[in-house]
Amino acid sequence: MTDILAGQGYEVRVARNGAEALSQVGQELPDAMILDLMMPGVDGFQVLKAVRGMEKAAGLPVLILTAKHVTREELHFLKGNHIHQLIQKGDISRTDLLAEVARMVAPQAPVAPASKPGAGARAGKPLVLIVEDNPDNMETARALLLDSCDLLEATNGKAGVEQARRHHPDLILMDISLPVMDGFASLTAIRGDEALRHIPIVAVTASAMKGNREEILARGFDGYVSKPVDEAVLKQTIQDCLGGGAKT
Ligand code: MN
Repeated sequence: MTDILAGQGYEVRVARNGAEALSQVGQELPDAMILDLMMPGVDGFQVLKAVRGMEKAAGLPVLILTAKHVTREELHFLKGNHIHQLIQKGDISRTDLLAEVARMVAPQAPVAPASKPGAGARAGKPLVLIVEDNPDNMETARALLLDSCDLLEATNGKAGVEQARRHHPDLILMDISLPVMDGFASLTAIRGDEALRHIPIVAVTASAMKGNREEILARGFDGYVSKPVDEAVLKQTIQDCLGGGAKT
């Protein structure tokens, strides 16, 4: 890997274990980090956590390159700590690796800084962003999902997109009729952001628009739930959208 990167003109620093990595980051902040998870002593998870705890390294792009089978909990931890991408060793070509490193060093979208320190401790609950301008509808969604999801809320499309950039939720519930920026424009903005485009987005719209179900799905939403929201339908739709395996 050193040869491949150095051959492209990158200045490469090598750390052979987690402790060495942390000491190097402490001394001189790199532009990006490629991190293995399985290492002797301080492992990659601990390195990531420590790096996100350093003020100057909170926004450091980190590419996880590992042969480890990553569990759902571990994936949550990694996403909660804002990794650039998770790549399984063997799944990546030289060209892909270079493309990913180039994206880290010159990202099209700003790299999300670490949000709250405890974000990695989500313990398997999906982080769901609800974008809804009607307070009653917001309260209903909140009440239905409070037990099974961690929730973020936004009351217009622009704020929703900003929340998505900041927190990288696992799923977004999107009202269509919204002030400032409607659900379609918000969808376009999120899909246009390399770091966010994988996030499933479920449209939640009034039954008057029910005839538009196909149109809404054709616009690129991952799911559709009509209002008034049925609890079972909402939960099933969320589960279907989250069940697609590792979303990286
Ligand atoms: Mn609305």
